[in-house]
Amino acid sequence: MKAILSIFLFFTVIFHSFGQTEKIEVKVKLHSIEGYGQYEDLANQAIIQLEKAINSDEFRQGMIYGNFIKTNDLTNKELFYKIILAHEEQGPGGKDTVIDLRVRTLRINSDESRWKNKCKIGSNSGTIGIDGNGDGVTAICPQRLKKWKEENNVADLAGHYAHEYMHILGFGHYKFLSRDKWRQKTFVYKIGNLVSNLVRKEMKK
Ligand SMILES: [Zn+2]
Repeated sequence: MKAILSIFLFFTVIFHSFGQTEKIEVKVKLHSIEGYGQYEDLANQAIIQLEKAINSDEFRQGMIYGNFIKTNDLTNKELFYKIILAHEEQGPGGKDTVIDLRVRTLRINSDESRWKNKCKIGSNSGTIGIDGNGDGVTAICPQRLKKWKEENNVADLAGHYAHEYMHILGFGHYKFLSRDKWRQKTFVYKIGNLVSNLVRKEMKK
């Protein structure tokens, strides 16, 4: 039944969304938030801005005219529908056309201490967070969250959620010995950056 609904929605999106007759509004739903403490309000702001950005015409334009690598062989239009359909491939998911998010902080002081050095601001790996290793829960480095709160940096947090969500939709940016310059060209990175830029612009208004 779920598969039939997905196919139905997929075609509904195709016929309406690009025909511009009826615009499908994507919702972003935060199902769970753990370890954020005083930073929860920053997360809520980022989620509101993420929803706005993804539904904007600028996002659609960026998707149609963008140049991406690591696209799982999908065309730009197909990539766009995939985001709008929002059918999660990892974790418990939720309703289609709803971006179902579950977020937490990395437990760098207990069982996830292996991330402690990588999470340090300015570290070589530049780790911001992890996509949740298949459980669909996106985890962020606590140091990064603190830094972004101090900067009131809603834009980069929204971009981080978009980036990690692309992993939940089944996209990756792995290549043996890849360099940052190469990673920046991947679909996952570019969508994260597109969302960050759109939110930054929106918040300056
Ligand atoms: Zn990633």
